[in-house]
Amino acid sequence: MEARVGIVGAGPVGVVAALACAARGMRVVLFEAESEIDHSPRAATTHPSTLEILAGLGLLDEFQSVGLVARHFQFWDGVTKTLVAEFDHHSLRDETPYPYVVQTEQHKLSEIGLRRLSAIPSVQVRLGTGVTGVAQDGGSVRIEATGPGGPEEHSFDYVVGCDGGRSTVRKCLDVEFEGYTWPERFLVLTTSFDFRSALGCCERSYMSDPEEWTNLFKVMGDDLKGRWRAVFPARENETDEEAFSETSSRRRMHRLCDDHPMDLLRHRNIYRVHQRVAKAFRAGRVFLAGDAAHVNNPVGGLGLNCGIHDALELAETLHLVASGRAGKDLLDRYERRRRPLNIEYVQQQTVANKKRLEERDPRVRQANFDELRRTAADPQLHKQFLMRTSLIESVRKAGKIG
Ligand SMILES: Cc1cc2nc3c(=O)[nH]c(=O)nc-3n(C[C@H](O)[C@H](O)[C@H](O)COP(=O)(O)OP(=O)(O)OC[C@H]3O[C@@H](n4cnc5c(N)ncnc54)[C@H](O)[C@@H]3O)c2cc1C
Repeated sequence: MEARVGIVGAGPVGVVAALACAARGMRVVLFEAESEIDHSPRAATTHPSTLEILAGLGLLDEFQSVGLVARHFQFWDGVTKTLVAEFDHHSLRDETPYPYVVQTEQHKLSEIGLRRLSAIPSVQVRLGTGVTGVAQDGGSVRIEATGPGGPEEHSFDYVVGCDGGRSTVRKCLDVEFEGYTWPERFLVLTTSFDFRSALGCCERSYMSDPEEWTNLFKVMGDDLKGRWRAVFPARENETDEEAFSETSSRRRMHRLCDDHPMDLLRHRNIYRVHQRVAKAFRAGRVFLAGDAAHVNNPVGGLGLNCGIHDALELAETLHLVASGRAGKDLLDRYERRRRPLNIEYVQQQTVANKKRLEERDPRVRQANFDELRRTAADPQLHKQFLMRTSLIESVRKAGKIG
């Protein structure tokens, strides 16, 4: 009989996990606490290694059609507004069929995935149903949830917690979320102003500035007319009200570009940012994936990408064990592969990315710029750099961990 898998959370990781499990013949119930998908601006940058996964699930064409293809990314000196270095994913053309990133907002991936799931008979999607408890014995996992009709109980062979950074599943397992929270929050200002025409920057540009760095990138928006998002660090003692005020939004946008007309500002959002990794990714028949297992600052656009890689690895592992092609020992390989790779490729990288943007020491800043210029100018170093930032290197390394 097919394995029964309960997936908690219909964020992008839960939806991809559900599709990947269903594609391997498992019966899936996907629980989502909210009655609709959250549209707040979070992930957009989807790297080549993740595009390969989306292509394998038959999602890529639709995903790409509602986003934009960005072949390059740039580092700028935000103080002098000069370009420091540009990287071109085309140098990965012999390594991947997708030598570019796609910038599509994460809610679009969840919604595309949910539409596909609704057409699969072996999948049930339960929107508006929040999981409140998880308990297991040797043979199955029991889930307690509250749905539109009141309390529910379900039993599964395996459960996957894809329920985000505040994961109820992780808390039920009593697994520690090791790491720290940054003192400053990240402010996202969304505008319809075209920074490419105004500054000459590309659709994914990192502006280093010791006073206030910016991570600037373009998405298409739901109307496909194009939006730019500018991510800034909020001051440690800045309240939401101050960060969202007209005065501080104007100050930030004009620091980026004097010509920015304030009536083009569409949204203001603020996020607390963490670097944390769950002490364990597995407890018996229950697994953690995506933000439930690891969270990081968004500079470099790696968190969701890594979560989608978790989802695929887990679906394949559960399939091999449930179909009898591998013994239960294989279940531990999920954590052996995914946890150290998150630390090496996502935690360390995003901390370094943030440090590079905010560096205050003028000599270190210049040394960083010199290094970026040297790396971009040398074809071999250029490619090596992109192999790491695109997570292709981490996927290949995972394959070697038995
Ligand atoms: C400003 C910003 C920019 C970012 N940019 C990038 C980027 O460019 N690239 C990148 O890779 N990453 C990026 N990230 C990170 C990315 O947003 C997260 O890694 C991603 O959302 C993780 O997806 P997820 O499905 O694991 O969790 P989530 O998206 O948090 O989804 C969890 C889901 O579980 C549901 N849920 C919660 N509790 C329960 C429960 N008890 N029962 C049922 N359902 C429940 C929630 O309602 C939610 O729908 C960014 C983050 C921020 C804040």
